[in-house]
Amino acid sequence: DVIQEERLKYLTDEKRIKAVTVVFSDLEGRLHTLDYDKKFLVKSYDNLTFDGSSIRGFTAQRESDLRLGIDWSAFYWTPADIFGPGKVIVFGEVIDKNGGTYSADLRGVLKAFAKEQFQKNGYTLNAANEIEGFLFEGVDAERAFHQTGKFEYVNQGGYYHSLPGDPLREFIDTTAEVQRAMGFENEKDHPEVAPSQFEINYTYGEVVAAADQIQLYKLICRQVATQMGMTASFLPKPVTGVNGSGMHTNISITKGGKNLFWDPKGQEKVSAFAWKFVDRILTHGNDICLLLNASVNSYRRLDPHFEAPNQIKASATDRGSMVRIPIGNEKSARVEVRSVGPDANPYAVLLSCFKTGLEGDISKIKNLRQAERYLPDNIYTALDNFRNAEWTSTLLGEDVKARYADLKQASADRCPRLLGTIVKSSEVQFH
Ligand code: GLN
Ligand code: MG
Ligand code: MG
Ligand code: MG
Repeated sequence: DVIQEERLKYLTDEKRIKAVTVVFSDLEGRLHTLDYDKKFLVKSYDNLTFDGSSIRGFTAQRESDLRLGIDWSAFYWTPADIFGPGKVIVFGEVIDKNGGTYSADLRGVLKAFAKEQFQKNGYTLNAANEIEGFLFEGVDAERAFHQTGKFEYVNQGGYYHSLPGDPLREFIDTTAEVQRAMGFENEKDHPEVAPSQFEINYTYGEVVAAADQIQLYKLICRQVATQMGMTASFLPKPVTGVNGSGMHTNISITKGGKNLFWDPKGQEKVSAFAWKFVDRILTHGNDICLLLNASVNSYRRLDPHFEAPNQIKASATDRGSMVRIPIGNEKSARVEVRSVGPDANPYAVLLSCFKTGLEGDISKIKNLRQAERYLPDNIYTALDNFRNAEWTSTLLGEDVKARYADLKQASADRCPRLLGTIVKSSEVQFH
């Protein structure tokens, strides 16, 4: 294909590039990176294998070898001062024994779903994520928490409040600059409501690219913070008593360039198509909660007092609702799924939102827009809901569903021991 030929030629011709970092994500969304020598990769890109048994949620030991393909369309330049000299990043795709998409590689599953939607309905699936995080003192603040029991802010800031030279502002500026160099189209950036909290917004993209960019954004933030002797943390609720961090997921669908979610005469100026999408997500809200809020710590964030949504309803204004309909126009009309943590697997999040919104079980659709129903307040309830739901089997397949549940069960059970004391299941947890 054309893009592949172009990239291979570029890599061969560009003498400054020495190595290619191939990245892919495990079932929980942890980003794995491996560097191939450029000349080797150009020769051998269609014959790469790796040991799947060492990747969480992938193969069992006895059938460990998996193939790694390259998605040449997901190719990023990397600034040398942050990523080291002479490298580029490209996303990999995990391939099963029969040459198809490996079912636990949710990027591949999402890509196949997006392709099918385009071929069947002409839909382009678009997403923009608002990813919040905290900047803490020390290069390994999450580990240090286990000893000290607290995180150290780098400033007292607050919403839109920073001065030049402030470490949070320096961090945001550097991160935004790296993003621009890598081809993100930045829109705005700012300190968030809690002290030492940040959010950097960039433009929406086609769903797979949007998920890839979430992974890159977090990678960039972590690299920049480390270079400053600090930690960028994407724990949903690292500090009690202040706002947590969300990953609001803004969604729209276009067909032939036309935004199908826009209708100036519709309720909140979105179309009946968009409302049906929202109703499906609300109907399955409890089923998919574990995919959107994937850690023990996520459930501490879902508290409407801190602008974090735990109510399964849709609203134009109430920030305690799972889905909000922001003010939009013909171009920007969208729905915002707010009950998503920044530490969730972005491919799982976007697959859950789009597949549920488009294909959720129509027979169960009720008008839930005003209903008083709540998301779980702890991971064990979320696990039960996830396991008991038929919909999650359709979404992931029985095998991947079971593996995901086992991983989350293990992290929930591990949590009290990690802290050396018996605490509520909603205590802080790392992975
Ligand atoms: N931090 C809030 C959350 O957890 C969002 C606050 C905001 O974006 N204004 O979702
Ligand atoms: Mg925002
Ligand atoms: Mg925000
Ligand atoms: Mg938002």
